[in-house]
Amino acid sequence: MAALAENIAKVKANIAAAARAAGRDPSEITLVAATKTQTGDTIRAAIAAGITVCGENRVQELTAHLAEGAYAGAALHFIGHLQTNKVKYVVGKVDLIHSASSEKLLRAIDRQADKLGIVQDILLEVNLAGEESKSGFLPQEVPQMAALAANMTHVNLRGLMCIPPRAQYLGANFRFFENLHHLAVDIRSQISDNKTEYGTLSMGMSDDYPDAIKAGATHIRVGTALFGPRPPLPGTE
Ligand SMILES: *Cc1c(COP(=O)(O)O)cnc(C)c1O
Repeated sequence: MAALAENIAKVKANIAAAARAAGRDPSEITLVAATKTQTGDTIRAAIAAGITVCGENRVQELTAHLAEGAYAGAALHFIGHLQTNKVKYVVGKVDLIHSASSEKLLRAIDRQADKLGIVQDILLEVNLAGEESKSGFLPQEVPQMAALAANMTHVNLRGLMCIPPRAQYLGANFRFFENLHHLAVDIRSQISDNKTEYGTLSMGMSDDYPDAIKAGATHIRVGTALFGPRPPLPGTE
């Protein structure tokens, strides 16, 4: 676990350096630890070593870790693909859903939150590169979906999220991150209900988070750089 504490310190130092280089305050950036495939013990160790937000990908892991209290002391976000028929396992259990990726899912989240009598914080996932294999709204669909979400009474639209293609070289994804930032600015000027600021930008992973910070990320989702390489999961990548 010594390596984990060192990795966390290293990523935090990199966040601070990237923020300062971009003229930003490092405290504007939240490190979300992407905990998929990790054990409850590893999650507890990460929180003890200074992780304040866990991002979970899979409903099954989320449910199991919640049952054993693994996230105690940290905020909990859902960052993975969410099926409409699984919203009841996620809505009201997490502080923020990063991956609202279809109109059907958005409506299901709103309905479930209504049932629970809560308001669920969400981000809209944007498929910036129009990749067939990925979920999310195409950039041109975002203004309409943001307007829809802003009018829902049981979801609170906080901003946007993206998962661009794997960066092949440093700097490769900067333009995608800038595009997401511009989309968020457009939405903010389009919807002026004063309900929220839509200021959350969840973008950047182990390979490209300094670029995301440069482009205005408020939340970066980091797994490998904290926990080391993962065994491949069936049905992913
Ligand atoms: C796994 C995952 C991450 C973290 O990926 P790394 O490359 O391991 O940092 C970030 N976001 C999402 C949605 C993920 O599934």
